Formats: sequence, C-alpha cells, structure tokens
Amino acid sequence: MVGIQTSLLTAVGDKTAKPLARQLELHTVGDLLRHYPRKYIAHETVTHASEREDQRFRPGEHVTLLGTVEQVTGRRMRHRRGHITEATISVGAQRFTCTFFNQPYRERDLQRGTRALFSGDLSRYRGGWQLAAPEFIVLGAGVSADLPGLIPIYPATKKLRSWNVMMAVRQVLDVLDDPEDPLPEVVRATHGLASLGDALRRVHLPDTWAEQQAARRRLVWDEAFGLQLAMAGRRASATTRPAPACPRRDDGLAAEFDARLPFDLTASQREVGESLSTALAGAEPLNRLLQGDVGSGKTVVALRAMLQVVDAGRQAVLLAPTEVLASQHARSLRAMLGPLGRAGELPDDPTVDPAGATRITLLTGSLGAKARREALLDAQSGAAGIVVGTHAVIQQGVGFADLGLVVVDEQHRFGVHQRDELRSRPGDTTPHVLVMTATPIPRTVAMTVYGDLDTSELTELPAGRQPIATTAVPAGVRPRWLDRAWERVHEEVAAGHQVYVVCPRIGDEGGEGGREPGEEAAPAPAGDLLDPERDTETDGLEAEARPPLAVAEVGPMLAEGPLAGLRLEILHGRMPADEKDAVMRAFGEGRVDVLVATTVIEVGVDVPNATMMIIMDADRFGVSQLHQLRGRVGRGSAPSSCLFVTEAAEGSPALARLERLAATPDGFEVSRLDLEVRDEGDVLGAQQSGRLSGLHMLSVLRHGDLVAEAREEARAVVAADPSLARHPGLAGLVRSVVGEDEAAFLDRL
Ligand code: ADP
Ligand code: MG
Repeated sequence: MVGIQTSLLTAVGDKTAKPLARQLELHTVGDLLRHYPRKYIAHETVTHASEREDQRFRPGEHVTLLGTVEQVTGRRMRHRRGHITEATISVGAQRFTCTFFNQPYRERDLQRGTRALFSGDLSRYRGGWQLAAPEFIVLGAGVSADLPGLIPIYPATKKLRSWNVMMAVRQVLDVLDDPEDPLPEVVRATHGLASLGDALRRVHLPDTWAEQQAARRRLVWDEAFGLQLAMAGRRASATTRPAPACPRRDDGLAAEFDARLPFDLTASQREVGESLSTALAGAEPLNRLLQGDVGSGKTVVALRAMLQVVDAGRQAVLLAPTEVLASQHARSLRAMLGPLGRAGELPDDPTVDPAGATRITLLTGSLGAKARREALLDAQSGAAGIVVGTHAVIQQGVGFADLGLVVVDEQHRFGVHQRDELRSRPGDTTPHVLVMTATPIPRTVAMTVYGDLDTSELTELPAGRQPIATTAVPAGVRPRWLDRAWERVHEEVAAGHQVYVVCPRIGDEGGEGGREPGEEAAPAPAGDLLDPERDTETDGLEAEARPPLAVAEVGPMLAEGPLAGLRLEILHGRMPADEKDAVMRAFGEGRVDVLVATTVIEVGVDVPNATMMIIMDADRFGVSQLHQLRGRVGRGSAPSSCLFVTEAAEGSPALARLERLAATPDGFEVSRLDLEVRDEGDVLGAQQSGRLSGLHMLSVLRHGDLVAEAREEARAVVAADPSLARHPGLAGLVRSVVGEDEAAFLDRL
C-alpha cells in the first residue's frame, strides 16, 4: 500500500528519494504530490525547427524548442559591466543562440550534448536567431519521445531539475493507491469538483488544459475550504462561552456623548453603530471587523460601543500596535469625551455628574513603576472604564474587574492568534471583540484573513472633507519640483497650517537598521535627494545603493536649509516616551509647524490643522502605507496636499506605482492596487504565512469567488458539526491546511 503518508524512501527507493529530500525537503508521497508544477508547456506547441523554413520564424515570436547544446561559452562583457553566457543549440538542422546575462552557472546546466526544452522570444542576432534568457528544462537522455500532453515545469533547484521531479512524480503515481477523499460526495457534487485521486494525478500529468484546470480547481478548493473550515471553527469556538451582555441605556454616558457630539454622524456610522449596539446587548460574543477608509470615523464608532459597555458597568480596552499610537488614542478619546471621561478628577463642568463619568487609563510599557501600578489598579478595581494600551502590555495578563469589550485598532499588525488569545481569558465569559482595519481590504481577502470575524463597513467619509491633492514628485528628474515643495511648506505655515515630512528611516542606527520596529527593509535606489550636486545621470547598473533617507539627518538639514525659520521637531519610535508625547502634544496644539517623522504617525494621529504632507523616498513605502500616511492630512476643512517624493526614474515601475496611487483617492481601490503588487504570503499577513504551510495554490485575489463559495459551505458544515467529529476527513483537511497547532482549537469544541 502506498498512500499519501508513505515515505518516499519506501515508495520509490533511495536513488530517487534522497535528492528530493536533500534538495527540496520532500519526504513523503504527500510532500511530493503537493509540490505542484509552476507551469506547463504544451507538447504540441514545441516548435520543430526542422519542419520549418528559416524565413517562417519571425522576430518577437514566442517559441518552444526541443534542442541539443552544441557549444557553451561564458565571458565578461566588453562594453558593459556583467557576464554573458552563450549556448549554441541545434534543433534539427537549425542553430539558435541562447544568451543569459549574469548567470554564469548556466554554463554548467547547458553542457555540450545536453537535451532541453527552451522557451522564449526569438530575435535576430548576427545573422542568426537568438533567444535571450529563455526558460528551459533539461531533459534526461533518450526519453524525450515519452513526453506527456502537457509537460509540467516544477519549482526545482540547480541540482535537481524539473525533469527529475517529473520522473519521480511519475514513479509515485504508478504505485499510488487512490487516496480516500476527505470531501463528502455531496459537497463534490454540489460544487462540481473532481475526486482527490484524479486531481492529484492530473495536476501533475495532464493531457489537456481542461484536465489541468479541473484538477487545480479541486486542489484550490481544498485549500480554501480547509482554511474556511478553520475560520468557521474558530468562530464557533469563540462563541462557546457567552459574552457579558451590555444592554444599552438611554440615560448613560453613551447617550450623553451623542448629545454632545459636535458633528452629525454619517449614515454609515449610525447604521454600523446600531448593529454593534444590538450585538453588544446580547450574550452572543460580537466578533466584528470594522472596515472603513482612512478618516471615515472608525474611532467615534468604537468609542460609542465602548461607552455602551461602560454604561453596563463593565470595561472596554482599546489595543494599539505602538506606544505613540496608544497615547495618541488615549489623548483623543479624552478630548472627545471631555468631562465625561474625567471621573475622579476635580469637577470642572457643573453639567456633568461626576458619578456618571468614566476614566480613561493609559497602560504602556514605558510607564514608570508607580504610574504602572496605578494603571493596573485602575484596571483591576474597575475605576477605569476604558483602558488604552499596547498589544504587548495588555497581553501580559492585565487583570480587569469586568472586561466587556476588546477593541483592536489597526489590525494589520495583529493576527488571528492574538484574537484567539484575547478570547481565551480565564472566566465564564469571553469579551466582545471589535477589530478596526487600518485600510480597508477587499471582501474576499477579509474572508480569508479575518474569516473568523463578521464584517461591517463605513462606506462614506464625513461631509465637508476636502480631497487630498496628491502628486508624485520625481525629484531625481525634476529637482526644481522639490525646491518648490519647500516653498509651499512656507506658504502653508504662513497661512497658519502645519506640515508633516515623513522619512523611511530613523537614522541613529540601531538594531533594526534605523527602521521603525516591524518595518520591512526596502530596496535602495541611487543618488541623494538632498544633495544639491545630485547626479541625475546615474546608471542603475553601476550606482551605489544609498540607504533610505532618515529623520535624524533630514530634520537638521531642513531646519538649517530650506525650512530655516520654521518651528521644526522630529519624532520617531526610539525617542523616550515622554519626549514623543511632548512633541505630539506640541504639534497637536499648533506649537510646532513642521513635524519630521517616521511612520510612527502612520495611524491614529489626528491633527486637523495639518494640511500638507511630504513623503521622502516614497518608493520605499508600501502602497497601503502611503495611503494610510496621507490620511493624516485632509482631516479638517482646509484643502490639503500630499507629495510623494522619489528618485525613481521616469518610466520606472516604482514611479508608475506612485503616480497611480496619487490618482487613486479611494481606500478600497488602493488596497486592490496594493494586492496586485504584493505576493500572497504578504496578503495573508506575516503572522499567518509560514504557519499556513498547507496553502500552495490558493490566491485570495484570483480565487475570490471560490473563497466565498467555500466559506458558505464551511459555515454550514460547522453549524451542524462544530468539532467535525462526524467529518473526520474534513478535520484532516483542516489539519493539513492550517497545521496541527493551528487546528488545536478543534479539540476544544
Ligand atoms: P479613522 O480612524 O477611520 O481613520 P477617525 O475616527 O480618526 O478616522 O476620524 C477622523 C476625524 O474625523 C476625527 O477628527 C473625527 O473626530 C472626525 N469625525 C469622525 N466622524 C465624523 C463625522 N461624522 N463628521 C465630522 N467629523 C467626523
Ligand atoms: Mg483611526
């Protein structure tokens, strides 16, 4: 019996198994069968040169040739930097030159006599035909006659070629017993899915594209379904314990807050608020994702929910990813609540009954020992109705008198695991959970990344918002534009407004290369934006990469140079907490004109008087991050602007991306744009990718419809059989997709 679990050693013997284990870490039959082809070459598309006249080839034509290497040479190039490898291949009586730049190892792959399939675009070269950097697969000796209808091309290594993988797969499929299908017959029938055995065979060795597609659809479905079953299961396990019911009161803080609101809620805010309010009043735990573009007013919605909880005599906690953001949140909640949030302080407003007010307590890692003790006591005694803190601090087991609601802000730094942890606090109840995304994401992506949550959307911005005029400034090409930008800063300040200048790096190098913790390193382009002698002629090949611009350098340079005379401060995550606070407060109160900052201001910072943002080295930031950043302006009623300054070359993809973003004001559009330029691992979030090693083919972007289908089916199955006890095959599927650890929640159901 050879099954999915059988080791490759047993199934195909040493000679085949050992290289698979060593080179590709494939140890079992299942490992190999899940090592899917990355593409296919249709055998009938192989161009047989001997059957064609020379003149029937056309430059630019895409061809796949079955050829033999006659000669291969490698050398340094004479007129350019770099190395070139040239292989002459014969296809029948015809000769072709294959060229590869800076891949000297190709010489080893293509030794004289090697037979291979070459695939690439034809061009003319020294009177003959050339394929520049073709894809190729090296074939074993004498077996080319035995090719399947579609030749699978596998992810391979230099030592283990695609061809060898294909031969191993064939060997395995010859001895494999049909695996038991985890999908119930009815599910397969309903969704028109192939059997698992068929799918595994045909994904590797299809005869037609239709077979290949049917096979893929089934395998992608398994991944989507496994993931959605896991999410549905988590959702079920999150609701096994009741939540503390928080009925709404007409005479409490929530009502008082609404009465004092200086603006009208948008229809969308009211609608979502209503639905949250109803859910909070019940004992079924709320597990909700609140989506909304930057500036759509998510905080007010969250605060109103928190007040309902406080009115019910319980507590709410607001979790932020960073200290700056946590203290900013505490400050803005206090500002919004006014005297309603100052219980225990000297009464300064005769219209507020001190007994009816609540207290907002900030809890972060940088509090002094005494302040920390007091904050913990506030939380424990219930004196604090609302606790604001960083994820890190709150998760270290802070005790609450009666926790009713957890609000998680800016979710992209927070994973499904942490949500599980929040819900699994000791006690008979589990708090309601409300998650706010930083930038909205498409629905099908939300279904995958936040599949355990239901979704609410704020679909409009508050009335009177000014659009943010965004412009990409290619400073490498047009240095004048940058000079003009600094002039505009002066004009903005003269008009009584404030300005942010954002840099990708902190600068006084630390452990993270001067980046904010959690930031990714971006590739470095050439030149120096602030160097007046900057060389706009730099050649991408030869230029030395420079590190991204840093707050610690740009700040002083601006203060002494183009922005001399303005009140300028810097802000970044490695400053002591009290300094950060002081700078933010000064900026918030209009005592600072220009804030030169890192992405610490990315989220939550709310200074309506700031009307201009200049993002330096904008190409070093992700698309969503840029959208989030520019959302810091345009918060008041004055027109606002944002400049993406970059040295990216004219016509480069980096500049094109910035220009597209500049022309896209809508957050949902932006996230689609963002997803296009990122890969799947990123989409699922750092916390999840890696752990979810069972995802090979699923693309939340391309398979949106299928994800939605799988989600519906998964919810139905889990509703009838939460622990999947009656569906052992599906429990196995969940384990194989999300892993043993991730699937542990099944045992708790
Ligand atoms: P988000 O967190 O969704 O980016 P915020 O909650 O920070 O947005 O709100 C942005 C700004 O808009 C804040 O200054 C907030 O007080 C204000 N605001 C929220 N709702 C409204 C509304 N309905 N009308 C006017 N201003 C609003
Ligand atoms: Mg916010």
